[in-house]
Order: sequence, then structure tokens, then C-alpha cells
Amino acid sequence: MSLFRPSVDQLHGYVPGEQPQEPGWVKLNTNENPYPPSPAVVEAITRTAKDRLHVYPDPLGRSFCRAAAEVLGVEPEWIIPANGSDENLTILVRTFTDKNDLISYPYPSYILYETLAEIQGTRHARLRLNADWSWNTRLNRPLLEQTKLLFVPNPNSPSGNKWDAGTILSLVPQQGVLVLDEAYGDFADQPHKLELLRGDKGDRIIVTRTFSKSYSLAGLRFGFAVAHPDTVAAMRKVKDSYNCDALSLAAAEAAIRDQAWMLSNRAKIVATRTRLQTALTELGFNVVPSQANFVWCTHPTRSHEELYLALKARKILIRYMKFPGGVDADAAHPEGLLDGLRITIGTDPQVDAFLSALSEII
Ligand SMILES: *Cc1c(COP(=O)(O)O)cnc(C)c1O
Repeated sequence: MSLFRPSVDQLHGYVPGEQPQEPGWVKLNTNENPYPPSPAVVEAITRTAKDRLHVYPDPLGRSFCRAAAEVLGVEPEWIIPANGSDENLTILVRTFTDKNDLISYPYPSYILYETLAEIQGTRHARLRLNADWSWNTRLNRPLLEQTKLLFVPNPNSPSGNKWDAGTILSLVPQQGVLVLDEAYGDFADQPHKLELLRGDKGDRIIVTRTFSKSYSLAGLRFGFAVAHPDTVAAMRKVKDSYNCDALSLAAAEAAIRDQAWMLSNRAKIVATRTRLQTALTELGFNVVPSQANFVWCTHPTRSHEELYLALKARKILIRYMKFPGGVDADAAHPEGLLDGLRITIGTDPQVDAFLSALSEII
């Protein structure tokens, strides 16, 4: 007999992307930033390491909250930092849902939402998107009406498209909250300004952001959420006391204060993104116009998995992703299986290496 919780026994567990630790890979598989973080980050870490490691950090990370509040134009009480944005997603699940509550999320999107619901043992549901990645609000209405916690990544992953504010507002559950996961928000044409939090439904929307992508700090583990102070207060009750360590708090504060650095990396990535999209289209791929730091593409005839493996044999790592039941079954998708390739925007030399290998293979 198993001693584990039944929900743990049944769990598949989230499978993160491959993280080869040896050098020599062109790594375009987990949406990291190819450029280094601001030099101010390393300075802040060094300074903190010299004299702040023997004492506990501020459990609320207030100095970071003040810096983020200034940059974002909100009050510090609206900010809650976490050990990576993923931790805030976990905290939100624990704050809002019991086992009879429904957690829902678009499908295909970030697979972690489903894993978090399975761990918590709540009811959960996939909300089906149209083949062009738009929302079928009418089809999803019955599930939305029962939803307590809705996760929506915007821009979405793996597709990279972004839904407009009107669509997002129409999704806010009547009896629940919407978590707007803006992990890729900084890469969009019109970067988010938190306007939805100031509107009518603002107290039922929680925005989450990460330092792993636009701020080049995936190795650090830091993210934060922006929400109504009542929500922040409830989330604080649920989190570990010292969920953010002194080094990451200091580093994140330095990073968010250096907007110029982040924006200049963003501009390089957006330029490379345009180039990559054009090149993939010329190679015969269908490419979803991306608002993120990656591109989703499918090929009308070639096996995506074989392309991924052929690239991997050349030490070029991209992400092969498959979503059973992701589309309506038709001639092109006999079992309703949606699959494709997600390519992170690297440096220009990395993207060139990828493109020349891919054109050889094809
Ligand atoms: C990368 C990512 C996150 C996680 O960010 P971390 O801060 O690294 O935990 C959350 N949501 C989406 C959609 C992501 O792609």
C-alpha cells in the first residue's frame, strides 16, 4: 500500500526543459535571455554577500517592493516577491483553492498550471483555444462560470501570441480570480502597464512577472506578483517566511532599477525575432507572429520530432512540444495532436547556427 497522498501517486509531475550543464550547446529551448544581466546586479550580489549573509533577509522584501512600485507606478503594498514566478503561482493556488474548487487554464499553454492543480488536488479543466490561438469564449463559458482560479499566460506559451485587453477582461471569472501570467510581457509590442489592475475588475486580477526572461536572471530564481493589497496580504499568510533570499532580493532590486539595460536587451531580441520569423517562413514553416522571446512554428510536411532530434545531434537544442487533444481532429491532425517547435530567441550568432543547421537538414 502506498503511503503517499493519492494525488501524489497519480501525479505525472512537471517535466522542465532539458538543462545540459556542459558547455558547447546552442541552447534555444527554455526561453532564457541570451544576454547577461545588468552589471549593477553583480555589484549588488557582491555587496550583499560581503555583509548580509549572516542574518535573515526581510521576509517581505520591502526594499525590492519599493523599487518595483516606483518603476511600475503602483503602491508597494501591491507587490509580492517570490522565489521565481512559479512560486507565486503555487502560492496563488494555495491562497484561492480547496479541493472542490475549479482551476482552469487555456490549452495548449504553460503545462505547470495543470501540475499545480494536480498537486493541490483540486478540480481542473483545460479551456480549448481555436486553431488560430484565439479564444472561444462561448465554448468555454460553462467552465469559466465554475472557475475559482483562471491562469492565462499573456503572451501565451508555446504560441507567443498576445490576447488583447478586451478578451482578457471577458475571461475574468464571475466567482473567482484571473491570474495574468506576464512572464513574457516585456517582449510584447505594447508592454503591459498594469492598466487592467486599475479597472473595474482590478481586485480580481493578479499579474505575475518573472526575472528569468527579460531581466536575464533565470539562474537566480526571482519573480513577483502585482495585486490588490487584500490579495497580497492573503498571499503573505500562505508563503514561506523567508521565500526570497538576501542575494536574490538585492539582485532583483538592482535589475528592476536598471530599466535601460533590460530595454536594450529586449530591443536586440525583438530584432532577432523578426529575422528568425522571416527565415523560418522562407524555409516553409508556418510561424505564429510572436510577442515573446521565442517563436512557435510548424512544418506542413516534416516530422517536428525528427527535426528536433537532428538539431540535437548537432548540439542545437530547441523545444519539441506536443499537446494531445490540442486541436480538433482533422486530416492533418488525426488524433487531435498538436505538435510543433518552440525556438527561443538567442543571440544573432546562435540563431544563425540554428538556421544554417536547419536549412541543411531540410
Ligand atoms: C518561465 C515562465 C514562468 C516562470 O518563471 P520563473 O520565474 O522562472 O519561475 C511562469 N510562467 C510562464 C508562462 C513562463 O514561461
